[in-house]
Amino acid sequence: MSDMTHPKDERTLVVIKPDGVQRSLMGEIIGRYEAVGLKLVGMKMLVPTAEHIEAHYTLDPNWRRVTGEKTIKSYKDKGMTPPSEDPLEITAKILTNLKKYMTSGPVVAMAWEGAHAVKIVRKITGGTEPLTSDVGTIRGDYVLDSYQMADTDNRAVRNLIHASGSVDEANAEIAHWFKPGELTDYRIIHEEILYDVNLDGILE
Ligand code: ADP
Ligand code: MG
Repeated sequence: MSDMTHPKDERTLVVIKPDGVQRSLMGEIIGRYEAVGLKLVGMKMLVPTAEHIEAHYTLDPNWRRVTGEKTIKSYKDKGMTPPSEDPLEITAKILTNLKKYMTSGPVVAMAWEGAHAVKIVRKITGGTEPLTSDVGTIRGDYVLDSYQMADTDNRAVRNLIHASGSVDEANAEIAHWFKPGELTDYRIIHEEILYDVNLDGILE
């Protein structure tokens, strides 16, 4: 982030995945991000194409390696043998399965704005694998999938939500999912209490 940008102007991409829509959790999920103080600046429902999903996950050139390594580590942490020792082999399979998962029905893409939006959203969303996502997070509270179960059934982990992992990822992903005219700049009244330096507008 450049020195010119205030942390409250940070934006992040959230996508409610097809299982989140099917489980009627859209309101619950949106409510969590609203309740923490973030501002919704873009939202749409669509059925993504496989090309759109592949491009989305490979916007970050490191995603294939990192995601494979994360999966291997998760197996080893549980004392289990990973399906392969090659991160790229693991991720090739994940990507195929992700395309099937993410194009299976409508998703809701959203851009959220506010202080530390990327980290705050990741914290509330919880870790990738619902089996180990913290209690109190969306993935921890509303779904029960695991790497083991997904890999056994050769499918993607169903974890309700995509959320950008870094500010750079967020900027690239928002541009991938939204045209500039689809995002709205506006003020929301609770920003006064979250960000106003002096709090001098309350007492009459
Ligand atoms: P996150 O969504 O938490 O950023 P990743 O970027 O590592 O997680 O992975 C993207 C998505 O791919 C995950 O949300 C999940 O749906 C799926 N996924 C990741 N690892 C695996 C795996 N080992 N097996 C099946 N699906 C996976
Ligand atoms: Mg990710």
